[in-house]
Amino acid sequence: MEKTRIYNFAAGPSMLPLEVLERASSEMTNYKGSGMSVMEMSHRSKIYDSIFQDAKEKLKKILQVPDEYKILFLQGGATLQFAMVPMNLIPKTGRADYAVTGNFSENAFKEAKKYGEIRLAATSADKKHSYIPPQSQLALDAEASYFHYTANNTVYGTEWKYVPETGNIPIVCDMSSNILSKPVDVSKYGVIYAGAQKNMAPAGLTLVIIREDLAGHAFPYTPVMLDYAAMIKGDSMYNTPPCYNIYILGLVLDWIESMGGLAGMKAHNEAKAAVLYDVLDHSKLFIPHAESEARSLMNVTFRTGREELDEKFVKEATAKGFSNLKGHRATGGMRASIYNAMPMEGVRALAEFMKAFEQSNS
Ligand SMILES: *Cc1c(COP(=O)(O)O)cnc(C)c1O
Repeated sequence: MEKTRIYNFAAGPSMLPLEVLERASSEMTNYKGSGMSVMEMSHRSKIYDSIFQDAKEKLKKILQVPDEYKILFLQGGATLQFAMVPMNLIPKTGRADYAVTGNFSENAFKEAKKYGEIRLAATSADKKHSYIPPQSQLALDAEASYFHYTANNTVYGTEWKYVPETGNIPIVCDMSSNILSKPVDVSKYGVIYAGAQKNMAPAGLTLVIIREDLAGHAFPYTPVMLDYAAMIKGDSMYNTPPCYNIYILGLVLDWIESMGGLAGMKAHNEAKAAVLYDVLDHSKLFIPHAESEARSLMNVTFRTGREELDEKFVKEATAKGFSNLKGHRATGGMRASIYNAMPMEGVRALAEFMKAFEQSNS
């Protein structure tokens, strides 16, 4: 028997737009009269090349990527970028600055330490990563090869609302959990990277947008697969790329266009987040984790303050078709991940459930 689709609040992999899944399904066995699935195509074939170039062009257009930047479709997730970034960018001065505002930025910081002298430019660990350090708290090293930060902290539910001023020092940014959720000025960054599984495509594709002059300086021992210059030279096809995921990304980009591009996505995401934060602000039961100025539009974190009540909430929500609301083990409590593909009706339904739960548990 067919089960209707649930509201999936998972932190990642997460929801994809239903329109995208349906279109992929309709093209699954015979893509546009080719007699085969996109999964079965040679990555060097003419037909696949048009899918690949089309996805890249659409991304360039939607994110307004300037011409001096290259778009790469890689593998290994955001986590491999934690190593790839320093291996390519550190050799310049041997030093880099990191802001640690959550667990992924902590992981990036630790990984980078293998490759150079890594300084902590700022941290929010003193308050359980419930806030984002302001510009005035960034201790920047004038000799840093780059400054790294994580745009949205998926686990703690905080998001940077400003792009740090770093002078001539290139900014490297992990945008895994808020890429394509709002307009971004790509020209302010040296490297942007993101795993695909939150806002772009199935897991297995990693997007890198790099200012071209930053490539070509990797440590000599850098594996070719981890050398940005080699990936640029081969147009992400030094070896077989994650072909099907790139095709899905193209479909997701069409969907984003239909939603009014990134300005439309931003309005959609702000409206959704406001519904949940409004419930939290008027609640006597639920306690939000993030300070209000730092609230993420993508991951809404909260708790009741009583573990058994949190458990009861998650259990009852799951029974009603709101899945994956259990918070990360680092924070406990609850987390509602409301990426681009979560519809407003899912958020409204969750808000109603939260209010009803509060009524019957206070
Ligand atoms: C999910 C996530 C990661 C980890 O991504 P992988 O693709 O699993 O390596 C890294 N950074 C952020 C901000 C994330 O949200």
